[in-house]
Amino acid sequence: MPRIETLAARAGSAPDPSSGALSPPIQLATTFEHSPDGRLPQGFLYQRYDNPTQQDTERALAVLDGAARALLFPTGMAAGATALQALPPGSHVLLCDDSYFSFRTLAVEQFRRWGLTCTIVDFTDLDAVRAALRPETALLWAETPSNPLLKVSDIAALADIAHAAGARLLVDGTFASPVLQQPLALGADIVLHSATKYLGGHGDVMGGVLCFADDGEHAAACHRLRLLAGSTASPFAAWMILRGVRTLPARMAWHCRNAMQVARFLAGHQRVEKVHYPGLESHPQHAVAARQMRDFGGMLSVEVAGGGAAALAVAGRLRLFTNATSLGSTESLVEHRASIEGPLSTTPGGLLRLSVGLEHADDLVADLEQALAG
Ligand code: PLP
Repeated sequence: MPRIETLAARAGSAPDPSSGALSPPIQLATTFEHSPDGRLPQGFLYQRYDNPTQQDTERALAVLDGAARALLFPTGMAAGATALQALPPGSHVLLCDDSYFSFRTLAVEQFRRWGLTCTIVDFTDLDAVRAALRPETALLWAETPSNPLLKVSDIAALADIAHAAGARLLVDGTFASPVLQQPLALGADIVLHSATKYLGGHGDVMGGVLCFADDGEHAAACHRLRLLAGSTASPFAAWMILRGVRTLPARMAWHCRNAMQVARFLAGHQRVEKVHYPGLESHPQHAVAARQMRDFGGMLSVEVAGGGAAALAVAGRLRLFTNATSLGSTESLVEHRASIEGPLSTTPGGLLRLSVGLEHADDLVADLEQALAG
């Protein structure tokens, strides 16, 4: 099997049979001709059901994650919501305590309407995970590394716990991408990525993907729900994601290199109380991260001495790190998460989340140095 660099660089690049083009075409058609006997010659009926460009991208993403099947969605949230709504009514979900804030909000605001119950638990504490299981637990929802505290949970151990309880394990691997972490190979059943982040990679497309270890009942239920509820990615977005994927391993290597340099600088700075980066030996789950990740990613969080006001002041003085939400693009971003997460936030007030981009690491360090000195 070729390595992930080779698979990604050539994703979708098989010559197009109609033209010989090496870049895949975008098929924007909403409808497809039936044959005289009423069959669908190419298997396509209507863009919302399935469409050729979406399928090209899904095939590429399935290969990168070692999945039997991938399903593409218009956003990461749509992908996650579909995985949840496709569970049998009455299901109980264990959600890790530092999962992306909107998933926790979804649990609080929407789960009851969907017939789901939820327990939020620290997934770095495996005894707590075991203790929270119920007979009706159908899904363990891990996010590793997590947003924004970069907590790392042990995928193989969680998969064993889930399977022993008759449940599935979903891993939100958005921060790692398939280049740095392969949850399905470690026993997870589903991987979720917000393709808006590293997969797209340029801050100009939204998407989400579910990659399934087995093309069984849950994958079929998610596909059916996507088709009926209309959560189909646009062909243009699918094409942009496929384009992004071709440079994913190269970008991830640079993101990781830059983030490590930034993390080491911040860890030694007197105005910094804590750096959350799994690549630092001081990170509480560094050993797990080193075991299950190929490298440690481009995301880190830093707690600035002096709390919320000091953190906001530092963010305001940064010039190269743009103060904006989201992550995984070429440009470095900084965000004061507590400000935007609102009253349910559990993020420390002094925390700034950094998405370390593809600039030169020395320039990024110099920018942080001047902002912390101010
Ligand atoms: N998962 C993680 C870890 C995220 O950070 C995000 C968004 O920031 C999402 C999922 C949701 O993705 P999207 O914004 O594409 O809906």
